[in-house]
Amino acid sequence: MTIYNPPVRDMQFALHDVLKLSRSGLPGHEDLDPDFTEAILDAAGKLAVEVLAPLNAVGDRQGCRLENGVVRTPDGFDKAFRAMKDGGWTALDCDPEYGGQGMPYVMGVATGEIFVSANMAFNMYQGLTHGAYSAIHAHGTDAQKQTYLPKMVSCDWTGTMNLTEPHCGTDLGLLRTKAEPQDDGSYRITGQKIFISAGDHDLAENVIHLVLAKAPGGGEGTKGISLFIVPKFLVNADGSLGERNGVSVGALEHKMGIHGNSTCVMNYDGARGWLLGDLHKGMRAMFTMMNEARLGVGLQGYACAVPAYQNAVAYAKDRVQGRAVTGAANPQGAADPLIVHPDIRRSLMDQKSFLEGARMLTLWGAHMIDKGHNGDADAEGLVSLLTPVIKGFLTDKGFETTVLAQQVFGGHGYIEEWGMSQFVRDARITMIYEGANGVQALDLVGRKLAQDGGRHVVAFFDMVKSFCKEHGDSAITDDFISPLKAASKDLQTAAMFFMERGMKNPDDALSGSYDFMHLFGHVALGFMWAQMAVAARTALDAGTGDAAFLKTKLATGRYYMKRQLPMTGTHLARIQSGAAPVMELEAEAF
Ligand SMILES: Cc1cc2nc3c(=O)[nH]c(=O)nc-3n(C[C@H](O)[C@H](O)[C@H](O)COP(=O)(O)OP(=O)(O)OC[C@H]3O[C@@H](n4cnc5c(N)ncnc54)[C@H](O)[C@@H]3O)c2cc1C
Repeated sequence: MTIYNPPVRDMQFALHDVLKLSRSGLPGHEDLDPDFTEAILDAAGKLAVEVLAPLNAVGDRQGCRLENGVVRTPDGFDKAFRAMKDGGWTALDCDPEYGGQGMPYVMGVATGEIFVSANMAFNMYQGLTHGAYSAIHAHGTDAQKQTYLPKMVSCDWTGTMNLTEPHCGTDLGLLRTKAEPQDDGSYRITGQKIFISAGDHDLAENVIHLVLAKAPGGGEGTKGISLFIVPKFLVNADGSLGERNGVSVGALEHKMGIHGNSTCVMNYDGARGWLLGDLHKGMRAMFTMMNEARLGVGLQGYACAVPAYQNAVAYAKDRVQGRAVTGAANPQGAADPLIVHPDIRRSLMDQKSFLEGARMLTLWGAHMIDKGHNGDADAEGLVSLLTPVIKGFLTDKGFETTVLAQQVFGGHGYIEEWGMSQFVRDARITMIYEGANGVQALDLVGRKLAQDGGRHVVAFFDMVKSFCKEHGDSAITDDFISPLKAASKDLQTAAMFFMERGMKNPDDALSGSYDFMHLFGHVALGFMWAQMAVAARTALDAGTGDAAFLKTKLATGRYYMKRQLPMTGTHLARIQSGAAPVMELEAEAF
């Protein structure tokens, strides 16, 4: 069985030493002192370790089953789901008006990492519900909010998002699901959706589907799309459950990973639906869900790799093979543990330095979302700019990290017994759903860079610049500030390249978009590491905090700056090579 230790110490450092949550001046944050957040994270960790993590391999082995039109989840999921609900975890950052606890989003994200690391497939049932909750909260009428939100906050009813159809995933303008208006103001929804996560299951009384469909008069493409609430069971006026709606599960998909989550083909046969938000403005309403969901998927990407890394460390300390080149480290034994070998260290340092940087970036992003919720338009703009970076970069690197961790096990990583293969298989989907990563790169270069006249990317550069200026003559200058400045310059040069060449030849921009997303990701993580270094150095100088933890933090950050950040130069060179090497061959030559 695999191990998992919730990284509460590291989260506390991010929340308090770096983000300084309780002193941020945001409403509701003043209570978030270190003792309080530690108690929350410890309690989440206990549930994760004792209940969720033991079910991870069970879910993987058993998967979900479709029995007489109803999806059955793996053994133990129902009990664990009740424990999650009873503990109030599904309501943590939801609106108190609908039964939520009203905590800042950043706390939902921190506990979310712990739950995803313990059991990603299981956590998706409540994760998707949270996304649907947010969309109804932002765009629903009062009546819709009163009808659905209290039950979704408690997860008595769960939620889904239904975009994908057999012939369209990325290009939603092609979708065919139809919505026909009825005299009573409702709609009849007809069509087929595929790949719907948590589309049906036995964990909740009702499933509230949010469905994209085309209503008459909306025109071609994405402009004609509207969003509808389609409950599995119709809801009576008094809130009780009525008859079954015309939506059913056509099949369960067989897939590479996340077996514990039901991925369904959903058939809508004249199902009754109600418009959510404005008619023909469904994409806008869906984006409320998608931005949150993309941050959530970025989180999944690295959170899945956290236990993979922890297991790799344990294995590297235990497994003996070969001798250290500098002399035996374990002379009494037949060989030395793997961890003495520089190449194993390289792998573990790649993993550790990425994971701690990724955690910091995700919590920082969630903190920006909290600022945005409190009216800070600049913070909202920054997080919108960085959403494709968080989704694309963290999931690519998260997957890579699971593979690195698996590699530490040699052949034992490939067989199922050690549990490493599941981390790799589960992490892989994060690069695909919520918009495949190539499309995230397109969004970043094609839309987000120029959004609001390029104001947000300029704000990002200014933020990094003023940080570097403030700490430009300090103990961390050589190791952190100078490399960050150089990497940020590469990012600015790449952005300029797109501005100058992209208009003349869009292929020039789009051939480099993936590299740009990774270049941006490295700069963002470098910026996070520089901030963590300032916090660690400050605490060490003041003699506060755990000195061993703080020194480890600085050494891990130095590794990232020296060994990962220089990748920005490679990405820039690729971007500057333009479209020619990418597009030279005719399609027939492949
Ligand atoms: C396990 C699982 C769970 C899922 N859960 C849900 C869910 O809950 N709800 C839901 O609605 N969907 C869900 N999906 C669907 C998922 O979001 C889509 O598969 C994904 O968005 C990609 O769409 P597609 O598969 O149709 O690929 P396509 O759109 O056909 O894309 C294929 C490839 O082409 C690339 N591509 C497409 N267009 C362009 C372009 N213009 N320029 C450059 N490259 C391009 C893409 O990056 C991708 O690599 C799920 C999928 C899976 C496998």
